[in-house]
Amino acid sequence: MKKLILKAGREKSLKRRHPWIFSGAVARLTGEPQSGDTIELQSSDGEFLGMAAYSAQSQIVARLWDSAHCEIDAAFFRGRIARAIALRTRLAPHAHAVRLVHAESDGLPGVIVDRYGDVVVLQLSSAGAMRWRDAIADAIEQLVQPRTIYERSDAEVLHLEGIEPVVGVLRGAPPPADLAVEEEGLKFHVDVPHGHKTGFYLDQRANRLRLRELAKDRSVLDCFCYSGGFTLNALAGGAAQVTSVDSSGGALELLQRNVALNGLASPELIEADVFQCLRKMRDQARHFDVIILDPPKFAPTSAHAPKAARAYKDINLLAFKLLAPGGLLCTYSCSGGVTRDLFQKIVAGAALDAGVDAQIVAHLSAGPDHPVALHFPESEYLKGLICRVP
Ligand code: SAH
Repeated sequence: MKKLILKAGREKSLKRRHPWIFSGAVARLTGEPQSGDTIELQSSDGEFLGMAAYSAQSQIVARLWDSAHCEIDAAFFRGRIARAIALRTRLAPHAHAVRLVHAESDGLPGVIVDRYGDVVVLQLSSAGAMRWRDAIADAIEQLVQPRTIYERSDAEVLHLEGIEPVVGVLRGAPPPADLAVEEEGLKFHVDVPHGHKTGFYLDQRANRLRLRELAKDRSVLDCFCYSGGFTLNALAGGAAQVTSVDSSGGALELLQRNVALNGLASPELIEADVFQCLRKMRDQARHFDVIILDPPKFAPTSAHAPKAARAYKDINLLAFKLLAPGGLLCTYSCSGGVTRDLFQKIVAGAALDAGVDAQIVAHLSAGPDHPVALHFPESEYLKGLICRVP
């Protein structure tokens, strides 16, 4: 068996079931493992610590499959995927649009499985996950019986593993060009081959519904609107007026298709950089009752946190200035490298510099199909606040 032996004292986090082994913790390797191989983890005094996948090129040199001595084979993946699906049937029974497997949080590092009706999208992001692609696809076929399994293994983090992206049909027919899913009574087109991530941001489902409840008769500004998740909910909730901003023309086109699909009135669309657009709106003295900030991941890891903090502060400060009296700021960070605490501090700093006394009226996170493993705090990537100004 190929083995990874840790330096003395470096087994502590593994014993707390944190699933990552960083290269600095490794004393030596035996058996010349190749990227993707299953290896046994051992402490410096020979204690067995678990079964893991080896990644030769990554800083995260191994990811834990199981802390017990077990066979890592097709049956292992079928078991884990079946368990992940079972965990969702009571808490997230949204069969049409749901994350079925959420990587480390479901005991499957590097494996994301999203379901859009008959189409299942698989995103693999580690050498170990890629090695087991066929077993994972077999398990999905057996358990979900979808029309299509489409692979979107093109996440940015792949290059850290030294892996080339893979995009295309893995099983079954190509996804239909007009694929749409239903979310809380609204329909959304999902562009599986070209859309962001796996095509849609399933994690904001509950927070979008929350907006719908707040939007009646309000003027709403949706920044980083993508295909209109928040915009459509604001319109459906009876907003008086909605302005949607995104730098991607393709995203705005998809948004327009989604507005039409639901028979809603067209919002004001602005194709622009949000940082510049908010400044322009400030100079024009525009004001909104509700502002949504749902930017892309500014800090993929904590190393990017200081730069990301400046970007978050900038847009939050500008947004506070654009709020009408009694207005609400719904602000999010999906950066794994920015903790909930830090995010709240950044937003507090932004309010201070904007000269407003804001209150937090809600703490938000991803839905129950994006669970957070207690032993893996990094899985709490999405955090949001609803702040009210006087
Ligand atoms: N709120 C959306 C998801 C937002 S994803 C939903 O609920 O579905 C982030 C979006 O920000 C993407 O559509 C991307 O095109 C856009 N984006 C990234 N950087 C931007 C920038 N500087 N200015 C404007 N839009 C930007």
